[in-house]
Amino acid sequence: MKVIRSVADLRAALAPTPGPTPSIGLVPTMGALHAGHLSLIVAARDACDLVVVSLFVNPAQFGRGEDLEQYPQDEVRDIATAEAAGVDLLFAPNAEQMYPDGFDTWVDPGKVGTYLEGSARPGHFRGVATICTKLFLLAKPQRAYFGRKDAQQVAVVKQLVRDLELPVEIVVCPTVRDADGLALSSRNVFLSPDERLAALALPRALQAGLAAHRSGSDAVRAARAMLDAEPGLRVDYVAEADLDGPTLAAAVMVGSTRLIDNVVLDAEG
Ligand code: AMP
Repeated sequence: MKVIRSVADLRAALAPTPGPTPSIGLVPTMGALHAGHLSLIVAARDACDLVVVSLFVNPAQFGRGEDLEQYPQDEVRDIATAEAAGVDLLFAPNAEQMYPDGFDTWVDPGKVGTYLEGSARPGHFRGVATICTKLFLLAKPQRAYFGRKDAQQVAVVKQLVRDLELPVEIVVCPTVRDADGLALSSRNVFLSPDERLAALALPRALQAGLAAHRSGSDAVRAARAMLDAEPGLRVDYVAEADLDGPTLAAAVMVGSTRLIDNVVLDAEG
């Protein structure tokens, strides 16, 4: 596996060579790799000749007062994890590479980026859409892999690809959860044992919402009731929205850690 730190080196590594053109699969991440990230890498490995993983804690998608400085980073471990998973190129630029002096152009999503995470974290999806656009243009992947865990991000990225006619297929992979139901997230390391117990109300509430939906009652009300009954967390939002399909999505604060999760509101059960 090559570890690449500059845009110039990435271009050089991906420059066309004689012979058949390899298909490229891109997995954008912010590092602190866990089994959720690995599921995307495995899917890319299965379908593509060349797997590129980006590892970049994108400052543009963090707001003031958010956890950019605290965001977990362990590059040595990430390099070993990516290598063991069969990644070909690990692109780990610094902020200066992605936002050099004078950088002044942004990709600003429309309506799909304005509610839920968009209103809780103003500017977040502008940062996401801009970095994804840059990564798509740099790596020129046939396919890019995203987790359903960040359902609104999927909706924003799909809209961006459609609107700007970017020649990439967005592949969405299911949310990977711990055995207790909590969705894997790099931020879970911040949870104390007590906070982790409280956090379990999030996936339970979403399941309760899904069950309510399937029996013809109000998913949001059912989920909200369960979250409100857990004193160890504070609800930011619980809502139904079309996030690449009908979705029940929620965000909660557990201590100082913000967690998001969602379920697809399907009819079966
Ligand atoms: P992040 O490093 O948190 O920006 O995530 C990088 C990619 O991994 C995004 O497409 C996420 O949606 C995806 N991802 C994060 N957590 C999970 C999970 N538990 N299951 C599946 N995909 C995930």
